[in-house]
Amino acid sequence: MDFLILFLFYLVFMLVSVVMVCICSKTHRLKGLVQGGAQICSCIIPECIQRAVRKLLHYLFHTRNHAFIILHLVLQGTVYTEYTWEIFGYCQELEFSLYYLLLPYLLLIICLIFFTLTCLTNPGTITKENELLFLQVYEFDEVMFPKNARCSTCDLRKPARSKHCSVCNWCVHRFDHHCVWVNTCIGAWNTRYFLIYLLTLTASAAIMAIISTMFLVCLVTMSDLYQETYIDDLGHSQAVDTAFLIQYLFLTFPRIVFLLGFVTVLSFLLGGYLCFALYLAATNQTTNEWYKGDWAWCQLCPVVVRPPSAEPQIYQNIHSHGLWSNLREIFLPAVPYYERKKK
Ligand SMILES: [Zn+2]
Ligand SMILES: [Zn+2]
Repeated sequence: MDFLILFLFYLVFMLVSVVMVCICSKTHRLKGLVQGGAQICSCIIPECIQRAVRKLLHYLFHTRNHAFIILHLVLQGTVYTEYTWEIFGYCQELEFSLYYLLLPYLLLIICLIFFTLTCLTNPGTITKENELLFLQVYEFDEVMFPKNARCSTCDLRKPARSKHCSVCNWCVHRFDHHCVWVNTCIGAWNTRYFLIYLLTLTASAAIMAIISTMFLVCLVTMSDLYQETYIDDLGHSQAVDTAFLIQYLFLTFPRIVFLLGFVTVLSFLLGGYLCFALYLAATNQTTNEWYKGDWAWCQLCPVVVRPPSAEPQIYQNIHSHGLWSNLREIFLPAVPYYERKKK
């Protein structure tokens, strides 16, 4: 019974984790799924609760707030507390290499530095003062970014590759996406910090999953549990099998198995998202352009603004100039230089 309750908790926890990470990479398809689910729920949930949920979701995803930053720090703090409190000590007793065991802390420090830099760095907001400078940075392709477009909210000319963020209420140069986990836009000036933050976060989750797995494997091998027998519910003696071992580890080290499950799921999700972000960086695309480019062939699609009389044009990425040049553009963005020169 205990095992069943623990397992149910575990499933709920995993589900929440998956949803939380999906929110980070929020796609319009996910939004569609959520809206579909909301329509089904609207038949059974009272109106006042629906209104409260809508208000909460609006606050969480459509206004700037620190909720996800706090959640992020709480989750990271919980994982590292459990690691320090149990795994680190047990692994030291099993004579794991100290350098190996200290690696997650090194990654944590780098991760927190770049997390702070991503949060606090101006993503490349467009103002009346820098509008002209930004207009010169990228070429207009006349498909996704027409030359004389203006932002209807800021009333500024829209430089190529920029977009208005409805959450922050400003236009951002080389807009990638608005990230709730860092409570700001990812744009020309903080994409580099965001990528390193993502890389170290993924690496710390993966290294923790590896250490926890090695600890549990080491424990099973050293205790010769595989050669033991146990008495089942009917009173028969049974040889220990994998299902029994998982149950045994779950009941003996519930927090470590929880942590292992969480960081494993997180590693795969973050790893997948990191590969996508690196692919975009290598091909000099932003998430915004990738999404719009996906649909740019469609004349009826409202995502790409073009005159109704215009011939349908296929979007082509004109900003990619080879891998190193694309990476240099992200890690050494040109505009801060112009900004410094101006000052
Ligand atoms: Zn704007
Ligand atoms: Zn934003």
